[in-house]
Amino acid sequence: MSLLYQRKGPLASRSRERYNRGMTPTDRENLERWDRDHVWHPFTPMQVYAAETPLIIREARGCTLIDLDGREYLDGVSSLWCNVHGHRVEALDRAIRDQLDLVAHSTLLGLGNVPSIRLARRLVEAAPKGLTRVFFSDDGATAVEVALKLAFQFWRQATTPAPRKTQFLSLTLAYHGDTLGDVSVGDLGRFHHLFAPLLFPTLRAPSPHCYRCPLGLKRETCKIDCVEVLVEQVRANAATLAAVVIEPIVQGAAGMITAPAGYLRRVREVTRECDVLLIADEVAVGFGRTGTLFACEQEGVTPDLLCVAKGLTGGYMPLAATLATERIFEAFLGPPEAGRTFYHGHTYTGNPLGCAVALASLDLLQAPTGLTALPAKVARLGMWLDRLRAIPIVGDVRHRGMMAGVELVEDRESRRPFPASRSIGRAVCRLCREQGVLLRPLGDVVVVMPPLAVSLEEIDRIGATLEAALRRAGESA
Ligand SMILES: *Cc1c(COP(=O)(O)O)cnc(C)c1O
Repeated sequence: MSLLYQRKGPLASRSRERYNRGMTPTDRENLERWDRDHVWHPFTPMQVYAAETPLIIREARGCTLIDLDGREYLDGVSSLWCNVHGHRVEALDRAIRDQLDLVAHSTLLGLGNVPSIRLARRLVEAAPKGLTRVFFSDDGATAVEVALKLAFQFWRQATTPAPRKTQFLSLTLAYHGDTLGDVSVGDLGRFHHLFAPLLFPTLRAPSPHCYRCPLGLKRETCKIDCVEVLVEQVRANAATLAAVVIEPIVQGAAGMITAPAGYLRRVREVTRECDVLLIADEVAVGFGRTGTLFACEQEGVTPDLLCVAKGLTGGYMPLAATLATERIFEAFLGPPEAGRTFYHGHTYTGNPLGCAVALASLDLLQAPTGLTALPAKVARLGMWLDRLRAIPIVGDVRHRGMMAGVELVEDRESRRPFPASRSIGRAVCRLCREQGVLLRPLGDVVVVMPPLAVSLEEIDRIGATLEAALRRAGESA
């Protein structure tokens, strides 16, 4: 039996040292082989993956991930944008263990469970005012899928029904998850376009991508004209538009595209003016990521539907929620035979373990010291990012809170990208990994997104490692 399974026994403490140093060579080889032979990794070109030695994580501590050989890596992308307080945080671990002593899972289909009730209450108290109802699901993708279906059904059942309101408007380069509804409102070529025959048509407004402005303008002189395009589209299509779907403040998967101040507020104004719902997908930006608990707060916006997932549990468990206003909720009331019920749900919806750890994570975030350390860290990250601007292959640096993207270009003057075959983003991240810093690119944009709990020293390590990697990659470019 492999050491992996013996961990709980006395062996764990006795040979902690040995455990940390690595497993038997056979255990290790088996894991590598079985990973290659059986695990189909998401968003991963498997032919390339299988040709390389896999990096397999066995444990973690704080912001550090530790592989089979005991090698340490700084978790520079928060285990894919979800980790908030670091790994193996005492209070979070305890919340799950305590809940485990009560019940691991009990359904929300027609029943309640204690942690989901408490969490719903806490989310309503913490979220922008006016969001009073919480529909739980499991992932960011399901949180947005739920929002889309709620918006669609809402208009058929609204006090003044508007069954023609069936369309959605989203931004170019949008990413809202990988279920087909989410892919329909998404617009990331390499992820989405293949599935076009399966998707419903969606109206598309230009992304506020200032470095590659879709309108050919310059941020220094423009009047956020891109949002005025959206405003006109919403006005022109108000009769058929169910909702506008947006990632507030930062379009994450698009390459960390940061919207100019005032953009989100303007979207809220026009959607209100035209009675079109606003769905805010805060899956990536929620829970302190952009500096405030929710990104919508920064522009004083309350959406009609708010989607949260990734950071909701501090990055511990899959759990998501779609928050809705009372107005939306009320449209779903009536006797069962009226057919107004929302017939949607997932088996693990409102999972008690996930809700328990989400509550503990919110405790940490909302403690008096919760977000107070963040501005200094954000400033330190900003200092490093500014230094990167001097490197010739760095075209643009985009940054909000603890969320940043460094766009690499072959030619700075013309902003010409590297040929895709160059895989420059991957190459830079590979160099960083060799130096013990885990980063993951989005195409040619290197993402820097450590847990909010990252220390100033760790930010320095990430910054210095990335700077060196970019200089090296630039020399061989
Ligand atoms: C990651 C992400 C999603 C999808 O969340 P999953 O939990 O991966 O399904 C949706 N929207 C945004 C903005 C995201 O960043």
